[in-house]
Formats: sequence, C-alpha cells, structure tokens
Amino acid sequence: MKKYKNEPTPEDFKNTQVCLARIRKGNGARCISLVTPGKKRCFNHGGAPRSGGQFGNRNAVKQGFTTREVKCFRKAVRLVLREAGEMISDYSD
Ligand SMILES: [Zn+2]
Repeated sequence: MKKYKNEPTPEDFKNTQVCLARIRKGNGARCISLVTPGKKRCFNHGGAPRSGGQFGNRNAVKQGFTTREVKCFRKAVRLVLREAGEMISDYSD
C-alpha cells in the first residue's frame, strides 16, 4: 500500500545492487548504499556521474608488469611450460 505518490515499491529495488566498497568503520564492513545505475559503486564511493577514467587510459601504468595483456601472456607461457613438462615426463617413463 503506497503511502505517498512517488514512494518506491519493492519491485523498484528488485534489480538494484549494494555498493561493493569497504568502509573504515568496522573490520572490513561493507557500504550499504545502492549502486549508481551502470556502475558497481554508490555515489559516494566512485559511482558519481562522469567520475573515473576514460576507457583505455594508462594513467596508473608505470612499467606495465601487471597489465591485463602481460598477465594473459604469462598465463599462456605457464600453460605451455606445464604441458611441455608433462610431455617430457610421459616420454621418460
Ligand atoms: Zn558505497
């Protein structure tokens, strides 16, 4: 039963998510605010409109040892090395 004209109903909160940020208060406590549509954080924790870097910016990259491309490359190299080791152990038996 709506008390006010624009009062939100439970259906309005069906697809909303809670902010993923951790707050200082408590030991690893979570923010309880709802996220800004299209973002993973609430308004206060980085979900404000026009906040954040543009897609593909390299501002935080210094040497590039931990970029996504390098991580994928290292993962592929590890996989190849593991398979090579298995092949060698198969032949040695
Ligand atoms: Zn938050």
